[in-house]
Amino acid sequence: MGTFLDSLSFPARVRKDLGEVFLKKDKEPVFIQCKACNRRALKQDWQKNYYVCPVCGHYRAIGAYYRLSLILDKGTFKELNEGMEPKDPMSFPEYRDKLKVQTEKTGLPEAAVTATGKVGGHKVVAIVLDSRFFMGSMSSTVGEKVTRAVEYATEKKLPLIIFSASGGARMQEGIYSLMQMAKTAAAIEEFNAAGGLYISFLTHPTTGGVTASFASLGDITLAEPGALIGFAGPRVIEQTIHKKLPKGFQRSEYLEAHGFVDKIVPRSEMRDTLIQLIELHT
Ligand SMILES: [Zn+2]
Repeated sequence: MGTFLDSLSFPARVRKDLGEVFLKKDKEPVFIQCKACNRRALKQDWQKNYYVCPVCGHYRAIGAYYRLSLILDKGTFKELNEGMEPKDPMSFPEYRDKLKVQTEKTGLPEAAVTATGKVGGHKVVAIVLDSRFFMGSMSSTVGEKVTRAVEYATEKKLPLIIFSASGGARMQEGIYSLMQMAKTAAAIEEFNAAGGLYISFLTHPTTGGVTASFASLGDITLAEPGALIGFAGPRVIEQTIHKKLPKGFQRSEYLEAHGFVDKIVPRSEMRDTLIQLIELHT
């Protein structure tokens, strides 16, 4: 797989995201524990496996810049609307403090990273929601960044790839968060009307307002193995319909079997699959 990492002159937030992966040379062997099987494996084995557990195959959450580095051709990454910060439209108690913690943890100012770059020589617009920042929840800034990137793709007639990961609406922004569903969906509709190719790539977890808007509107819908994908959580559904849900309900494999997801794509095949799809459609 290619990487866009050809210089060390990235902004601090990019360096933070990639630091664990590429930049830092460890003096001692470093082990990473899997949250699913609790087994430890060498960091370099995790790296070789694109942060899929070398023991049990569990998909670890990865940063937005790292994901972009796995799909974009070397040296072609160019960020769109970088540095756009969250707003606090409802002056929600403690919201700003919570945002600060998320930024310290991830190096990101917000949950969405939008960029242009080339995939196998084809210029694309790529949007990544980073589940490590506030569960990738949809704030007004996330919605605005997504909308602007989609509009850019429409204007420049570029294929659009969106990696969704979201816990749903950003509660602290109330109705301003919910409005993003209509806004992003309308931007995708205009993109469709202009004849663009939109590949929606669902990663763990994709839920709530993101599922109910742009994540479900792809011409082609791909998903990572084992990802939770749905609108409401299983407990809410069971309490509403008073029935037990089938096993594996809302996981990518179940959704592939029932036609909601076109193909499950392992992380190691992500870039090649995207190249193939783009070439088929251009
Ligand atoms: Zn594991």
